[in-house]
Order: sequence, then C-alpha cells, then structure tokens
Amino acid sequence: MSPSILWFRRDLRLGDHPALLAAAAEGPVLPLFVIDPALWGPSGDVRRAFLLRTLRALDASLREHGPGLVVRSGRPESVVPALVAEVGAQAVHVSADFGPYGAARDARVADALDSVPLVPTGSPYAVAPGRVLTGDGGPYKVFTPFHKAWANHGWRAPAESDPAAVDWLGAPSEELPDEPDVSGVDLPEAGEAAARARWEAWRGTPYDDVRDRPDLDATSRLSPDLRWGTLHPRTILAGLDARRHHDAVFRKELAWREFYAHVLHAWPDSAREYFKPELQGLPYVTGRERDRRLAAWTEGRTGFPIVDAGMRQLLAEGWMHNRVRMIVASFLVKDLHVEWTHGARHFMRHLVDGDLASNQHNWQWVAGCGTDAAPYFRIFNPTTQGRKFDPDGAYVRRWIPELTDPTLGEYPDPIVDHAEQRAATLEAYQLLRRHG
Ligand code: FAD
Repeated sequence: MSPSILWFRRDLRLGDHPALLAAAAEGPVLPLFVIDPALWGPSGDVRRAFLLRTLRALDASLREHGPGLVVRSGRPESVVPALVAEVGAQAVHVSADFGPYGAARDARVADALDSVPLVPTGSPYAVAPGRVLTGDGGPYKVFTPFHKAWANHGWRAPAESDPAAVDWLGAPSEELPDEPDVSGVDLPEAGEAAARARWEAWRGTPYDDVRDRPDLDATSRLSPDLRWGTLHPRTILAGLDARRHHDAVFRKELAWREFYAHVLHAWPDSAREYFKPELQGLPYVTGRERDRRLAAWTEGRTGFPIVDAGMRQLLAEGWMHNRVRMIVASFLVKDLHVEWTHGARHFMRHLVDGDLASNQHNWQWVAGCGTDAAPYFRIFNPTTQGRKFDPDGAYVRRWIPELTDPTLGEYPDPIVDHAEQRAATLEAYQLLRRHG
C-alpha cells in the first residue's frame, strides 16, 4: 500500500489530531517536519530553541511507535514533492494553515505536487477561520457578536487519533539543528506530554478575579502549547463546562484567539497594515530617536517599573503576562510615540507563544487602530496600572532587583513624563481627526 506523508507544522502532537486520523485511514504514514528558511530565519533564539525542544519531544513520542520524525530543510514547495517522489506517497496530509504565509505556501506546495493531493483536515482552531459569519455572510469585526456566534456554532469533539495504531514509516532524515544558547532563559517544558500535564494541572483553577494580576501569575500559561499545537483548543474546550463561571471566562479568552485568527484570515493584509487606515497619519518618531527609545523599551530601562518588569520578563522567559503586554504596548505607542509595528516585531522575535494573528491584532487593539471599539484616546497610565494590578509591587521587585538593592545597579529616571506624552498623543489624535 503506498504511504501518505503527514506534514507537521503548527500541530506538533499525536493526540486529538484529525489530519493524523485522515492519513492513517489510507495506510502507512511518514511523519515529516520541514525547516523552512522563510520562517526559521526571522525567529529569535528563544523561539527556535522552544520549537527544537518541541520537535525533539515529538520525535521521541514517534519513536515509541516507529522510526521517528523525518526532518528536511528547504523551501517546502521543493522539499515536499521531492519526498513524495522518493517514497512514492499517494497524498500529503496537513492541518490547514489559515495564516497569510501558510496559506500561500500551501497553495504553492499543492501546485508543485501536481497530481498528488495536499489534504487539509482540521486546523489549529476549534472553529476554522471563515466558518463563523455575520447574518450578511461577511466576517465579524467586533469580538462580542463573534463570540456569541462562535459559541452557537459549536465545535467537534476531540479526534481520537491513536499513534499506537498507526503503521509509521521512516526515511533518511537530517539532524535537527543545534539549539541556540538560551541558558539564561527560563523556558517552559516543551512537548505534548508537558502541555497535557499543564492543562490537567490548571483546569478548574479559579481565574476570573486574578487573571489581571501579574504578581499572582494566575493564568494558564497554555499559550505556547496552543501556538505550536502541542495541545488543541478542542481538547481544552471538551474539558470546560460553560455553565461554571470560571470555565466560561476561560472559554471567552480562547475565543479571542479564534477571533483574531478569523480577522486575519478575512483581512490578511492586517498583519502589517493598519486595520483602521485613518489612523495611519499619526506622527511617530523615526531614525535615531526611535532607535534610542526602542532600545530603552526592549531592554527594560524606561524608568517605569511595570513597563521595565514586563520587558525583562519577556527576555527572561519568552513570555509576558497579558495585562503587562497591554501596558508595555500602550507605553511604546502612546508615551514613546513609536509605531506599533516595531513593538509587534520585537514581541514576535521573543515570545514563545508569538502568533501572527494574536500578536498583530492585540498590538493594533492597544494602538487604537484595530478591531473593536478600543478608542485611540484610552491611554494606559503605567503608574496607576502598576498600583492596581501589582498592588504590593511583588512583580516589579521580582524583575527589577535594583529597586530594592541599589548595589545591583542604578535604576534609571523615567524616560518621559507620562502626563506630557499623554497630552501630546491626544492633541495629535484631535489634529488628525480634524484635518485627516
Ligand atoms: P490565559 O489567560 O490563561 O488565556 C488562555 C488562552 O486564551 C491563551 O493561552 C490564549 O491562547 C488565549 N488568549 C487570552 N487572551 C488573549 C488575547 N487577548 N488575544 C488572543 N488570545 C488570547 N497571545 C498569543 O498567544 N500570542 C501572541 O503573540 C500574543 N501577543 C500579544 C501582544 C499584545 C500586545 C497583547 C496585549 C496580547 C498578546 N497576546 C498574545 C494575548 C495574551 O497576552 C496571551 O495569549 C496570554 O498572555 C497568554 O498567557 P496564558 O496562556 O496564561 O493566558
């Protein structure tokens, strides 16, 4: 029987895997991962290290049942058809990718495969982008009605893929690249077993009252697992009971991830371009001054403790608490007057959960140019936000030890005056509204 190839991308697991079920139904399965220079190149060390650890974990799981993961590097439109020819595969199975790059890449691969089909089954979402539409048949631009329609639409039960029941095939494989040196970074354990364990340990945890408190660290930390597909959202959703308050709140957070994927699918250019183009004319700093401000922000030395704590957490863990992501993003755009695209790029390079749809659209939301009614003139005050959400200062002290122990270094004075910058931002906004 000719084999099928299962080409892993953002679905680096074996459980609840619809594409694996589809491939196994056709006969022997060859598991493939392609190191695509277009995605590998722009990733930072932390993202690469986490991906490599995830791939090693996937390979180890595959080796319990067969010869292990086949790794090839190069452009997928060359690499995938070459492997198809090498092993005489009858089909290539994938989980559908709805991102702008992934969708275009898959169209190129399908073309290059010619008569061998590229078969998409399932996606990284509970409901595939494009399925939930307004009454007029268009995409939603506002979260609340989307959330309602998404919940009403519903989703399938988890797929019962069983790796032990699959006839796995091997082929010559490249070695995975060496891991970059990330010894100073405290990354979560990678792989499907760790993701499942995180979810099992966290499910049922009361969440609503504490999820905005970075000092309590009371969120699920499942975002890297969802990003790399070591856990499927349906696995989580099947374990939630929306009649219970905390489960309903958590489910709504998962719906934000689905919403932004739907928005990016409907408006692929919104990964780079302003969702509200009328805000494109706001004045932003450029050149050396922009670089100076960006450097202070990225290194966590703006002199605003909650901002600096968040930026240092990002470098130290490849992750940042959601409330603090909002504060640092608002600060970059509205206090330092640096365009959101620069901040979004830095986040994508460093976040282990960096996801184009969630990242770019959260940035646009904070910058005031995205979906939903997040008014441009709502500007986070870093000092009052810090007092409210880190009331004892524990989060800030954890990341900025020199605040309590000056022998560790001098903490800088505030780089700007928040009240002045807030006024300047509001004035620029009024001018733009008046004169366009
Ligand atoms: P929990 O509070 O436990 O939430 C559970 C899950 O719900 C998350 O894992 C995530 O998948 C989803 N979720 C929660 N809030 C959001 C949200 N606002 N938007 C989309 N999904 C959400 N999230 C990413 O996964 N990748 C990103 O690149 C990313 N960039 C962001 C950039 C900015 C400027 C901001 C303000 C937010 C960004 N987020 C991003 C959303 C959010 O900060 C993270 O999903 C969350 O902090 C992850 O931690 P958690 O898993 O403990 O979250």
